[in-house]
Amino acid sequence: MAQRYVRIQNQEGQIYYGLLQLSLDVQVLDAPPWLQGQPTDLTLTPGNYQILAPCAPSKIVAVGKNYADHAAEMGTPVPSEPLIFLKPTTSIIPSETEIKYPPQSQRVDYEGELALVIGDRVFDCTPEIAQTKIWGYTIANDVTARDLQKQDGQWTRAKGFDTFCPLGPWIVRELNPGARLQTFVNDDSNPVQSASIDQMVFPPDVLVSYISQVMTLLPGDVVLTGTPEGVSRLQLGDRVRVEIEGIGRLENTVATR
Ligand code: MG
Repeated sequence: MAQRYVRIQNQEGQIYYGLLQLSLDVQVLDAPPWLQGQPTDLTLTPGNYQILAPCAPSKIVAVGKNYADHAAEMGTPVPSEPLIFLKPTTSIIPSETEIKYPPQSQRVDYEGELALVIGDRVFDCTPEIAQTKIWGYTIANDVTARDLQKQDGQWTRAKGFDTFCPLGPWIVRELNPGARLQTFVNDDSNPVQSASIDQMVFPPDVLVSYISQVMTLLPGDVVLTGTPEGVSRLQLGDRVRVEIEGIGRLENTVATR
């Protein structure tokens, strides 16, 4: 199994980056791994830590309509260049926590997505350079208040509620380009979303290059690469699980605020 990079909190509230072992012990690093964090002598055993989202970005840059079949289900064409928007960092929650249904919305959807974690400061780079700045990969759910997205015409409110960016549970360095992304709701063994990540319109290197021509990306920043076909609504009490082959599974429940 690929090395899994986690961010955790111990019982005293201290936050660490670490390596998750098969035993579920976490070997603590002295800095974020993309800032050359090295293993320390400290190991935390299961029950003595909580898994947090795997990074603490300065921003989350997300991409809309990056799978042709999802653009079609939204009744819109595929954009001729990446369509980017920001989600606030306060929307991030770890796996195994609650998405809070906001009272302003009558329709909240899941969007399973591959997330890129940036390892190095990058501005105005080519796709070739951009590829070297992608430190690793994790899983995101770009939770969206669909009714507010349509009503507002721009997406800040619809995509920006607290808890609307489940992220994790960990980061891996390598990903098979044909890895499958699947989303499951409750106990149904049939996925509601299933696509290979190579079906993206604009691949990760092109996205990072494009974004870097607008804004500087910093170490630990996150890029959400868009969702495939099959988005639908979540109800209170639902469990939603996004899986990506070679990474793992991100699972959250839906609760009232
Ligand atoms: Mg999305």
